[in-house]
Amino acid sequence: MFYLNAGPLSISGYALTIKIAIFAPSMKNLQAFKSLISSPKRVVIVTHFKPDADALGSSLGLAGILIKKGHSVSVITPSNYPDFLSWMHGNDSVLALSNDNPEIEKKAEQLIKDAEMVFCLDFSSLSRINSLGELIRKSSAIKVLIDHHLEPEDFAEFVQWTTSSASTAGLIFELIEELGDKHLIDQDIADCLYAGLMTDTGGFRHNNTRQKEFLIASELVGLGANPHETARKIYDTNSLERLRLTGFVLSQKLVVLPEFNTAYMTLSQEELKTFGVQTGDTEGLVNYGLSVKDVKLSVMMYDRKEEIKLSFRSLGDFSVNDMARKYFDGGGHRNAAGGSSKLSLEQTLKKFLEILPEYKVQLNKE
Ligand code: 5GP
Ligand code: MN
Repeated sequence: MFYLNAGPLSISGYALTIKIAIFAPSMKNLQAFKSLISSPKRVVIVTHFKPDADALGSSLGLAGILIKKGHSVSVITPSNYPDFLSWMHGNDSVLALSNDNPEIEKKAEQLIKDAEMVFCLDFSSLSRINSLGELIRKSSAIKVLIDHHLEPEDFAEFVQWTTSSASTAGLIFELIEELGDKHLIDQDIADCLYAGLMTDTGGFRHNNTRQKEFLIASELVGLGANPHETARKIYDTNSLERLRLTGFVLSQKLVVLPEFNTAYMTLSQEELKTFGVQTGDTEGLVNYGLSVKDVKLSVMMYDRKEEIKLSFRSLGDFSVNDMARKYFDGGGHRNAAGGSSKLSLEQTLKKFLEILPEYKVQLNKE
């Protein structure tokens, strides 16, 4: 919900602030949505492959609210996720798909078949959730998309979407507020949503951090979220191997190309093995590239065995969403995007270096 603050009025000594509520334009049919969730439903919440704190935090935060409203809720993730997210309330009942265990996929399939509503959180197209995508497309459940990525696919009956929100967790908070359910947010739910808000803004530092992110964060802290503990659990629970990997990447793998104001780093299967890399260990490495003076584009690519995964970060007008979409079957936001490649790591790097000249002028703009 957006508030237009009409300024303080003073009536007989009491300061009074008039607030005019303007509903976010995204959930157009809010009343229909409200009445739909006013009676218990079988609900499935799905988020993207390799969920990050925003994906998992918004899913578990929403799950917490829907459970309190009497719904039967299952959270399904298309893959595992980092250990540093496992503190989130509801983590124990998440159904995380895994290649090693086909039983889990069968269970997920059944849950989606039986679901009356499927919520898709923090991703914009069904192709980002692998096999679950087609199951959801085919399912007769009512679909709800809540997301902040560019160019969403049109598959959902209810949509709460805007790229101006820094996080999906923030959109979930606003939706809860619009539904009049803010009183249902307890400390566990507040922590989950706060984690999404904190990480997707890079600790309230990225250029997606508006006043509203602070307002929502402030509300969440008022409802029990603990900024220090949440930050510690996410950022300061490194394994020694992960920290050593960071040291290795910074000292040996980070390459800067001054003529393109670009930094890149690559990690092979062998290197990942040497450091015993776990899910989530490479998260955030790409940001170091952008911390080099004058660098506008940073790319990290690593060998995920089945494909090469790419992470892009940029500053200012340079759109890594465009680059990832055009050349690496990906997308995301203007300044943070991801993609993949079926080529080898060497060939993927070669392709990247070959397309760079196309962007030279843009990358050298003040
Ligand atoms: P990261 O580099 O942290 O994996 O992702 C950066 C942003 O791009 C995130 O918002 C993430 O959801 C999005 N993203 C990452 N990988 C992909 C991808 O393969 N396809 C699309 N469309 N978006 C991605
Ligand atoms: Mn997000």
